[in-house]
Amino acid sequence: MAIPIRNFCIIAHIDHGKSTLADRMIEVTHTVSTREMREQLLDTMDLERERGITIKLQPVRMEWKGVTVNLIDTPGHVDFAYEVSRSLAAVESAVLLVDASQGVQAQTLSVLYQALDQGLTIIPVINKIDLPHAEPERRAEELIKLLGCKPEEIIFCSGKSGVGVPELLDAVVERTPAPVGDPNAPLRGLVFDCIYDPFRGVVAYIRVMDGAITAPSKIHLVQGGKDTEAQEVGGFLPKRVARENILTGEIGYIVTGLKEVGDIGIGDTITAFGEQVEALPGYRQVIPMVFASLYPLEADEYNQLRESIGKLKLNDAALQFVPEHSPALGSGFRCGFLGMLHLEIVTERLNREYSIETIATVPSVAYELTTTDGETKIIESPADMPHPTFIQEISEPWVRLEVVSPSTVIGNIMELLSHHRSDYKSTQFLDEERVVLTYEVPLSEIVTSFYDDLKSVSSGYASMSYAMLGFRPADLVKLDMMVAGNPIEALSTIVPKSMADASGRRICERLKKLIPKHNFEVAIQATIGGKIIARETISAYRKDVTAKLYGGDVTRRNKLLDKQKKGKARMKQFGSVSIPSGVFVDLLRKDS
Ligand code: GDP
Ligand code: MG
Repeated sequence: MAIPIRNFCIIAHIDHGKSTLADRMIEVTHTVSTREMREQLLDTMDLERERGITIKLQPVRMEWKGVTVNLIDTPGHVDFAYEVSRSLAAVESAVLLVDASQGVQAQTLSVLYQALDQGLTIIPVINKIDLPHAEPERRAEELIKLLGCKPEEIIFCSGKSGVGVPELLDAVVERTPAPVGDPNAPLRGLVFDCIYDPFRGVVAYIRVMDGAITAPSKIHLVQGGKDTEAQEVGGFLPKRVARENILTGEIGYIVTGLKEVGDIGIGDTITAFGEQVEALPGYRQVIPMVFASLYPLEADEYNQLRESIGKLKLNDAALQFVPEHSPALGSGFRCGFLGMLHLEIVTERLNREYSIETIATVPSVAYELTTTDGETKIIESPADMPHPTFIQEISEPWVRLEVVSPSTVIGNIMELLSHHRSDYKSTQFLDEERVVLTYEVPLSEIVTSFYDDLKSVSSGYASMSYAMLGFRPADLVKLDMMVAGNPIEALSTIVPKSMADASGRRICERLKKLIPKHNFEVAIQATIGGKIIARETISAYRKDVTAKLYGGDVTRRNKLLDKQKKGKARMKQFGSVSIPSGVFVDLLRKDS
């Protein structure tokens, strides 16, 4: 008899309605009482709720017509693709959502490729059919063309009104293959995520492939080689609720009793103590795309930062970090991120969840370097770039970029890409009005402000995704910055030689705007190999900020002083000059 369990995830481009649709499913299956229900229930982090985006995968266990249905909601943004790939390995099918007004977008394509790669059954869904400008039939045509599916396989629904949601759950139960696995074999569970609970320690999210797990019981981590105890096991409703066991084919959690965040790896296999089992395939090591250093704003918070990054890493497997020391910034960490949004989210989570304010240095991609004595190495920080005389060749990472856009704005997009050292590859029509443009482009060209520019030249309609191609040789130089005569390593960038002068001038101008006035003149200089190529000067200020305020408006005066104080708290001292902590990340952004 087949096991009455179905495991699936929802995948889609960002904002196509995954989390909202999950809400409706939770409602119609009465998983959560009406009193506890709220919008975007699965976006549990404050940060997710405020920004309206999903950052973390989130499982929930529901019952539908006598079948246990485990859903995993996933993020849509390209920086969190690793969360999607981990979810895919724990399920048998993927509900592929397409917004009925927007149609197929760049991330629709990339998450679909991932799901097909994993051999999952795809359940095509046109969502948001309640929208006044929805074109469900036209979008269905697009999906049919993309998937080669039959028209009757497509489900039409609205996460807002709830139309079509019961039909979708029926389809999930009918079309998702039942999990295969041997209930009588020794336990094998895939760790697909982890969180650190301040009260209970490390909690592992697992998909049981063979056997079952009960609590309390002794367990063993196959790759990690650690023995520990399952103190509690249970399911996601979507809150963690203890159960007696997790059976073959089910998704659940284990309170592991581990206190050290380094003790368990995502992708590890859990088995029963004393069993010898073959490890499950696990996950491909994720490759960081963007690097930046994080330093505590207060130097004495280094240990706290180290501990916090460690805990965050447990919940964010894509984050990588190694200790680093900088003459100007002290002790910190060189970190690898999947993109700029990831960097932003990590610094914000450190601040919110662990109360640590950090300074992030100018983000950079990794470079491959061959030195004159024939050694090849990867450099993750411009600070590690040797003097030009020691460099034989520098290579930079290239990506394959896919942009989905209305055909009316192709011209604007091509124009934008022509300023980014790109190679045009192809144009494919999704239908008469929408295209997929494929380019090859250096990663460094698109990681910082490119996405915002793409949105603005396409009136918000274009979307993008990218995948690594590898390193290609390039003519690059390191651009250093000096502020008031002090070299500031954290401001160094690597730029194409042909654009070095222009970049140097632009960064000087940017810094002039970003660094506040001091009571002395501050020189900003850009240098290459010690030679000055650009200069700006910040004039000295004379007056106190409140000097202009006349008379008795005390509250306003106090507010202003307060603001000034707060501003000061977020500064870092470099020699005699104070620099706001946000400068480094803001430096490469476009001036708004
Ligand atoms: P996700 O990024 O795919 O998880 O998308 P969300 O569920 O966060 O939804 C993105 C936005 O679309 C939110 O503002 C939702 O209120 C809205 N939305 C989601 N589903 C529907 C729908 O069926 N109809 C309409 N009109 N809006 C929807
Ligand atoms: Mg979401």
